Amino acid sequence: MSEFAVLQLSGCAGCEVSLLNAEAWVDRYKLVYMPLVISAYDVPDVDVLLVSGGVRTDEDLYNLRRAVRRANKVVAVGTCAISGGVASLGDRDEVRELFLAEEERRHVPRLLPRCRPIDAFVTVDRYLPGCPPTPELFMAVLFDLPDFKTSRVVCQECGRKKLKDMRPSHLIGFQQGGVLPDICLINQGYLCIGSSTRGGCRAPCPRAGHPCVGCRGPSDALIEKESGAWFASIRRVFAAMTDIPPQEIETGLRSPQLALFLFQFSDYARPGEPPRPKEKVL
Ligand code: SF4
Ligand code: SF4
Ligand code: SF4
Repeated sequence: MSEFAVLQLSGCAGCEVSLLNAEAWVDRYKLVYMPLVISAYDVPDVDVLLVSGGVRTDEDLYNLRRAVRRANKVVAVGTCAISGGVASLGDRDEVRELFLAEEERRHVPRLLPRCRPIDAFVTVDRYLPGCPPTPELFMAVLFDLPDFKTSRVVCQECGRKKLKDMRPSHLIGFQQGGVLPDICLINQGYLCIGSSTRGGCRAPCPRAGHPCVGCRGPSDALIEKESGAWFASIRRVFAAMTDIPPQEIETGLRSPQLALFLFQFSDYARPGEPPRPKEKVL
């Protein structure tokens, strides 16, 4: 039986919970290290190492470098491992200052200057974006299923219809107002970015009436493009489907609800370095 380990760096443990919600791996893989559920001091030699969380502290970096030496294959799991995710919120000055004050007092691990994705330090064989990736996506990456297909973008998995004659003139804020079933959330004035976000999650958010905020990262068409290109693509969708003033869209795209994931789209293009290879991203 193949063995795998889960190394958790700075994140929220949501990725681990999603993995535990899947069960197909139980018959084919033995989980040998995952501090959330297994008492084991160190990562042993494994076939697959799943790494969740961003590299935020010196302890994260130490653990990451030690663990990858023991693994045949390394998979970066979730937005935090790929782009920093929630852990990168600590890059904000006021959060950092607060934490540094506590660091001294509580002897917590030393903060690195910035939160970094794991491929800034180690070679990654596969990327599994999502916050968290769904149990189904975990299964696809663990078993390397050749016939597992993801849709190009979330819209293809959503099932809501885009209407030509329902053009809102203003945005409705997140979590405000009612949501009509079956009709695209953009037609209803919600800032949904499913048309630019890679599919594979089966669109749980828009299906439930909440706009997609892009946690799966950029679609293959945008993955190697700079931020200007994916901003333009989102603007085009809203210009074609709504009469919302462009400035309102701009403000919405920069809102805290979207900033966390949307602005990490640009991490894939990695200015100054080769972009992350599309074929490695599930
Ligand atoms: S990617 Fe999301 S679910 Fe996974 S550790 Fe980060 S914040 Fe949590
Ligand atoms: S824009 Fe959002 S609501 Fe509309 S089809 Fe795409 S994912 Fe669904
Ligand atoms: S619908 Fe969008 S926000 Fe929701 S899980 Fe999928 S990619 Fe993430």
